[in-house]
Amino acid sequence: MLSPGQGHVSTAGRMLDLLRTQGTLSRVELAERSGLTAGTITHAVRRLIEDGLVREVGRDQQQGRGQPRRLLELDAEAWYAVGIQVDRTTTTIVVLDFAGNRIAGASLRGSGGTGPERTIAALADHVADLLRSAAVGRDRVLGVGLVTHGPQDRERGVLLTAQPDPAWLEFPLTGRLSERLGTPVLLENDATAAAFGEQWAGAVPTATFGLVYMASGIGGGVIVDGEIYRGRASNTVEIGHVVLNGGSTECVCGNRGCAQAEAGPRAVVEQVLAEADLAERIGVRGAPEGTLTDFERIARAWRSGDREAGRLLERSATSIGRAAVTLVNLFDLDTVVLAGPAFLTAGTLYRRHVAAELEQSALSRALSRPEVLISTNVDTAAAIGGALHVLRTMPSGTQETGTGISPVPKEPHKGAS
Ligand SMILES: [Zn+2]
Repeated sequence: MLSPGQGHVSTAGRMLDLLRTQGTLSRVELAERSGLTAGTITHAVRRLIEDGLVREVGRDQQQGRGQPRRLLELDAEAWYAVGIQVDRTTTTIVVLDFAGNRIAGASLRGSGGTGPERTIAALADHVADLLRSAAVGRDRVLGVGLVTHGPQDRERGVLLTAQPDPAWLEFPLTGRLSERLGTPVLLENDATAAAFGEQWAGAVPTATFGLVYMASGIGGGVIVDGEIYRGRASNTVEIGHVVLNGGSTECVCGNRGCAQAEAGPRAVVEQVLAEADLAERIGVRGAPEGTLTDFERIARAWRSGDREAGRLLERSATSIGRAAVTLVNLFDLDTVVLAGPAFLTAGTLYRRHVAAELEQSALSRALSRPEVLISTNVDTAAAIGGALHVLRTMPSGTQETGTGISPVPKEPHKGAS
């Protein structure tokens, strides 16, 4: 399968990538930017136009001499892709057109407490509703990028963890969703998808950066020279399980003192609950499926000037900063992006404290000042990344275009049952 990070995207796939990021380009510009010959470009573009994926849109008036060049752009309505980010406490769905524009979206409750079978059924219904309201036919959907926490087996489309409960372990997530929707479904790690989405948004000024993803749990992703770092099985950069000095809290992974257990949203909620007055004052209730709602209440209390809430968030942010130091040191980074719904309100506080830790301790500080950015799509980056991954990797043309094997999507992987 074609995949960013695997270095063998086809000629046509590279044309589509360039047009998707640049908007309009001439054949000459495509050749310049891809390093391919004019003849190769001419041939590939002809096929893409025949397949209805690319069209000519007027001429470039900027050229000083010679004939104005005909400009090309993607046909945004050629295909669509759906991205679904599912977390224990929150779900985000986006529909992107072929050019990568967001045309529809929804936020729902998370998967905790519902079980995988019912969660998948509900997701399929919501996706169907969203496509109907956006007037997108099911036969125009290339596929669905299902984005969630790890560790996961992407090939089989299953989670390798009993989170949020044992029913999720090895449940055939992509197989079941694919059966219900009638489209292929790809499984992707939430932090990796967010890093991909952020890179695509073009908001990160460097081709190598790290990303800290915080929803109910904490994950991480790294883009190296513009490519996703996938490691052996895409379960990379588990920054939430970096053990913090002096930590002793038991973690879902079986270890003690992990950053997620010590400083993640659930930990902060527990710390608030331990102070009854504070919990009462800001309305924190502590239900397992309400972690992000409670965390958001704490963040809003801080923003409204509640010093106790601020103190607990700062403690968390400093711990996340220490974990980020390890991330930066391991990958020689100078830029870290914060993404995920937990940063929606508290992002600026986390940014400040993570940056302070990096400035104080990251080895790269000797060369340049580490930069910490908040994602441009802080709560939807992962869903957008999941849909973009589908647009980039699913077959969308005929054999001759080299974008894939068939205009009709292949049978997806069936998960183990
Ligand atoms: Zn852990």
